[in-house]
Amino acid sequence: MSIDPLKLTPEQIHEKLAELLRQGMGARPAAEAPTGEGTEEVEETLEVAEEPFAFAFKPKDITQHLDRFVIRQDEAKKVLSIAVCDHYNHAREARRLREENPDAVIEYAKQNVLLVGPTGVGKTYLVKHVADLIGVPFVKADATKFSETGYVGGDVEDLVRELLQKADGDIALAEHGIIYIDEIDKIASSANGSGRDVSGRGVQTTLLKLMEETEVTARNPMDLQGQIKAAFEMQRNGGESARETINTRHILFIVSGAFDKLDEQVRRRMKQSRLGFGAEPAAFEAEENLLRETTTADFVNYGMEPEFIGRLPVRVVCDPLSAGDLFEILKRSEGSIIRQYERAFRAYGVEVFFEDGALRRIAERAEGERTGARGLLTVCERLLRDFKYELPDSGVSSFTVDEALVGGPAAALRALLESGHAEKERALLGIVAEFAGRFRDQHDLAIRFEPDAAEALVALAVAGGTGVRELCEARFKDYQFGLQLIRKNSGRTEFVLPLRAVEDPDGLLSEWVVESYRHVRANEAGSPASP
Ligand code: ADP
Repeated sequence: MSIDPLKLTPEQIHEKLAELLRQGMGARPAAEAPTGEGTEEVEETLEVAEEPFAFAFKPKDITQHLDRFVIRQDEAKKVLSIAVCDHYNHAREARRLREENPDAVIEYAKQNVLLVGPTGVGKTYLVKHVADLIGVPFVKADATKFSETGYVGGDVEDLVRELLQKADGDIALAEHGIIYIDEIDKIASSANGSGRDVSGRGVQTTLLKLMEETEVTARNPMDLQGQIKAAFEMQRNGGESARETINTRHILFIVSGAFDKLDEQVRRRMKQSRLGFGAEPAAFEAEENLLRETTTADFVNYGMEPEFIGRLPVRVVCDPLSAGDLFEILKRSEGSIIRQYERAFRAYGVEVFFEDGALRRIAERAEGERTGARGLLTVCERLLRDFKYELPDSGVSSFTVDEALVGGPAAALRALLESGHAEKERALLGIVAEFAGRFRDQHDLAIRFEPDAAEALVALAVAGGTGVRELCEARFKDYQFGLQLIRKNSGRTEFVLPLRAVEDPDGLLSEWVVESYRHVRANEAGSPASP
């Protein structure tokens, strides 16, 4: 009897697979069939035994860690550290209380965080390092992805499943992960446009559910492969299925956005309210502090749903980065891309050193890109692209990135390559001389190359991409025999190889050999030897 798998529901497929596996693999003796109250107990102890990770940090521990990598953003570091500590301390406490009384109702307003700030100033970087430090899985997504697909519910839940993947299938750990959603401002409903943008609002609502508490199935119901895996796992566990859902209760949500023009909106509001009191415009907040004055109402006016923004009680502004900050990032951050470049060149046997003056110039240029610290990578990539391409097989073993190089990379590279070629040629000429020396030791015949012959050998090896040693061995492989014959005929033991020996080794050798026989005949005839 054939079954059309496409007509089955995922649950039915699951059942069928489990059945097949049981038959096909020979059912293992069922694990002690849990009966009655026992069942409850087993599950309870399993739950209780799950201690996903030990959290014992204080806010200052976290900021100290972040300081190693992230330059500036002190307020964000502080606020994030406090929120993270509160969140995980609460999660631990809640677990303990629930162990004591499974029905305990624990009131808690989650400390989900809203980061406001332009692109490339370290928002993701902060969150990633927090997650690394405390050892929880971390996923990032752009909110725009959700509105674009138009498939709201599914995608958002995929984030939670992704956490599970990052946690290597450890559900308890995934349930304490961090989900970071960027570009949240892009799903603002356009309140001041031609009408409300429904899709943006839809995404906000779905996210809201996730941020509160909901159960997400560990496997996408549409994913057949996942179902098969589940059936296998069930088989392995003696018929007991693994936990199937992830609860989002203790997942920490961090959202962020640039909120362009939000500062203008804040300025307008403040102006209106202050005008009422007759304040001078000069009394307004400094430009960079405007965003710090943002209220919930400002976000709502911007197009965020009040319920949504209300679930993000912790808000902090990340500052734009100046050229000076970018310099500090290059110079001091443990994650500086300069270290990345040092490693990349070292892999090719090239040591690179960056002077401060050059770092400053790079930082200034990067500031002009207006993409925050991301501009640093753009500038460095453009600057050093040809160096990475040309230096690895050039013979250059070290170089300095100084202001002159930043000002004129092409000329600097040319000069470097010339010196590199000279250096490399010197090394290769040394190998040619070494070949001659070994020849003498092995065959008791002194050979020496004319300078132009040695240079020609080096040029041939470089052009052919072969080693100069192999080239010499191949080219002069018959010389030991030929020269020994000549020595026998003429008594000659010293040979100077001219350019022609490189160009036509066999031709020259046979001429020399023929010549040596003439010497023998001349000797026999009693006439003086010719060279
Ligand atoms: P965004 O604010 O858009 O999330 P990211 O955190 O992704 O920006 O920053 C991009 C990269 O730039 C980071 O991976 C990091 O290398 C670097 N970076 C950005 N801001 C900082 C900073 N304040 N200190 C150190 N490095 C930074």
